[in-house]
Amino acid sequence: MAKSFLGVRAKPGQVAYGSFTLDDVHIPVVVAAGAKEGPTLALHCAQHATEYPGSAMIGPLLAGLDLATQRGTVVALPLVNIPYVVRTRLPNAYARQDRSNDPIRNGVEFNINRVWPGQPDRPEWNHRLAHALTGGLLKDADAVLDYHSCRMCDPDFAGCSKGHAPSRALALATGLVAIDEVPEEGHFPGQMYRRLPIEFGTAVNLIEMAPTSLKTQFDKMQQARRIAVNVMKHLGMIAGQPELPPVQIVFHRLSEQYTLTAGEMGFATFYQPEAAAVRKGDLICEVRSLKDFSVLERHVAACDGGVASVGPVESHVVLPGEELATLQPGAEIIRNAPPRRSRR
Ligand SMILES: [Zn+2]
Repeated sequence: MAKSFLGVRAKPGQVAYGSFTLDDVHIPVVVAAGAKEGPTLALHCAQHATEYPGSAMIGPLLAGLDLATQRGTVVALPLVNIPYVVRTRLPNAYARQDRSNDPIRNGVEFNINRVWPGQPDRPEWNHRLAHALTGGLLKDADAVLDYHSCRMCDPDFAGCSKGHAPSRALALATGLVAIDEVPEEGHFPGQMYRRLPIEFGTAVNLIEMAPTSLKTQFDKMQQARRIAVNVMKHLGMIAGQPELPPVQIVFHRLSEQYTLTAGEMGFATFYQPEAAAVRKGDLICEVRSLKDFSVLERHVAACDGGVASVGPVESHVVLPGEELATLQPGAEIIRNAPPRRSRR
């Protein structure tokens, strides 16, 4: 049976390229339908301008699909917020995400990731877009990956809504080391990965890959694609098991954490990667003299836990009081069995 999403229709075994139109804005939609019946995976990219790891991998992902054997359908929205995307050349548009006073298009720059699942009768384009995408695709998808970009000092991570088991399983299946499990309270309530699980039971992950920039590096594009392929395996759309790292860490937003800060000016030197499991006493970082590189400060883990972020936030030449790293004592450390070798 042909698959139709947001008005774009593909026959089994075919890819259809089309667009969904809201007011006079055309938003690209790609429907890649496997020859066999199966789940629907939605790839939602570039809600925010300058956040393109998902967009960058859609082409290579589509090129690598084998639709003759694929079960189910991949629906890709490579450039969701296209009016904003094509108008910005800021290297980092974070500061403008929440602007709501744009006279063009009824406040298109109001942050769309604060209004899910959207409302059909609001004047703002973003509200109506969120509502249309939710009804036409996202609420009925078996899984949604919502690709974004984060700060340089954050690890690449998958965000999931605490207490929603299908979203947590999806996050672990991405193969990312860092998982950010976010509670209901005290967070942006209108984020897609918070609202859709609550309202429709949809499994949704926020995928954050540093850094936010107009450009996506080749290794990040490959990582973004690997995440989608792992999730296709998790959903049974293609053969095989997701490739998982030896250790994954589930961080809990708003839980207790230690912030390590520089006491003196110096050069920050790190001994742990972003998202690492550490034991009490493990060396995390040093601040070294700019003059002779001698050690001015040693910062060790105050407890067993997970390193949630490794700075420096601004510059490797740190100033007194600047953040070096954060450590979460309550992080869950998951150790994965090594992959089984298939015998032939
Ligand atoms: Zn974003």
